Amino acid sequence: MNPLTPLRRTKIIFTLGPATESEEMLEKLILAGADVARLNMAHAKHDWTRAVIRRIRAVSKKVGREIAIMMDIKGPEIRTGDVEAPIELKVGETFDFTVKPGGNGAGENGEEIRSVNVNYQDLVNDISVGDIVLVDSGLMRFEVLAKDKNHIRCKVLTPGALSSRRHINLPGVKVNLPSFTEKDRLDTLVGIEEGIDFVALSFVREAKDIVQLREFLANNKSQAKIIAKIEDQTAIANLEEIIQATDSLMVARGDLGIECPLEELPVIQRRAVKSCLDYGKPVIIATHTLESMISSPVPTRAEITDVANAVYEKADCVMLSGETTVGKYPLECVQVLDKIARRIEQEGPFEFAEPEHLTGDRIKLLHSAVLLAHQIPDSILVTFTRHGTMAGGLAALRPALAPIFAMTNSIEVLRQLRLLRGVEPYLLPLGSDPDQTIGSAIFLLRKEGRIEVGDKLIIATDILAADRLVNSVQLRTVR
Ligand code: PGA
Ligand code: MN
Repeated sequence: MNPLTPLRRTKIIFTLGPATESEEMLEKLILAGADVARLNMAHAKHDWTRAVIRRIRAVSKKVGREIAIMMDIKGPEIRTGDVEAPIELKVGETFDFTVKPGGNGAGENGEEIRSVNVNYQDLVNDISVGDIVLVDSGLMRFEVLAKDKNHIRCKVLTPGALSSRRHINLPGVKVNLPSFTEKDRLDTLVGIEEGIDFVALSFVREAKDIVQLREFLANNKSQAKIIAKIEDQTAIANLEEIIQATDSLMVARGDLGIECPLEELPVIQRRAVKSCLDYGKPVIIATHTLESMISSPVPTRAEITDVANAVYEKADCVMLSGETTVGKYPLECVQVLDKIARRIEQEGPFEFAEPEHLTGDRIKLLHSAVLLAHQIPDSILVTFTRHGTMAGGLAALRPALAPIFAMTNSIEVLRQLRLLRGVEPYLLPLGSDPDQTIGSAIFLLRKEGRIEVGDKLIIATDILAADRLVNSVQLRTVR
């Protein structure tokens, strides 16, 4: 990457798949500015997972730009079983979802009713007559007519061809499945062994789900941060407690758009982003971001505006899914996101954020740094961060114009900082003499072409005063 190109604040996440798993493509994506690679464990085998994680690390090292890796675990998911051939469903037809082999009953006149098996025993208990069942990303719609202990009987509302292992959504139904499944456990252990940076938990329903994953990570000595994926109505009802408990949030619009009335989706997105900003937690906008680019070299006008909207909302990241797993134009997708983000970031209003729920002296001090950055044109924020807290605090305040250069001595922290809006992380030994460390940071940033003589730096760091470390904000001119 040309070190002199200005920074993009909004971060780019891409999902790894057949279209992007090669070394050559990874190299292109990392150089094009992708920040985080996502592994969707719904489709990943363990051997493949280990191999691609190592490949990402190797390519990062080769090109000199370390990106983060997010493991997205499947969570509680209901699927249909195998069918020999796709079942063509007609409007008005009666159809059974069975929870026991051979669980479909006969029709009123003794005629045979077609059926498919479902991988979830308690379905018959959780669901009520009149509920809606959606299959295959909402493509097929059913209404529940009746149920017994072996099956639910439905009427087909929207027809389609039902093939094997399709995802089932039950809008508004409280599903009694564990949030962290046995498969999730095994997947996460592989991720921990390979040193992933983030775990994204699918279908988070309440804060407890996150607490449980956090315990699992701690018990297995992982420093990975948690991303809570909000995907259904229960998560929306518990949004506040989920944001409080998690490290960061993903607005998983794929499932949300099925589980909630479609006109609620933009309302939910805006609310979720606003709430994350209020708590100072990073937030990701995901799914169908540039969907048409799976097969087209250019995005639709609506997609351009949707991405711009996420940038205007000051989300930390935008995410690519099918576009980069199976799409024909993965590199172009990253370039399009890059281009839109850079342009929209130059638009006002140039205000910084005032996170309602971030309190404490340290954030007040960082606030003063951001205020200073706001008042001094073309100034640059620099911070020194061992655990990422100082950088996280500055990012949460969303400085309008100044970039945040974060110096850390930990490669793990550096990767996790890739998620944060406006933060450009660098690896730097943090010595015991703060003044010398500041000197090395200035040297490094000059070498990288990020700053030049005359630039005004606003430095948020610990300094040694007498023999005590105190937080400080300094204004320095590069000489
Ligand atoms: P998924 O989650 O891609 O794992 O389904 C994202 C979403 O639902 O938007
Ligand atoms: Mn989903």
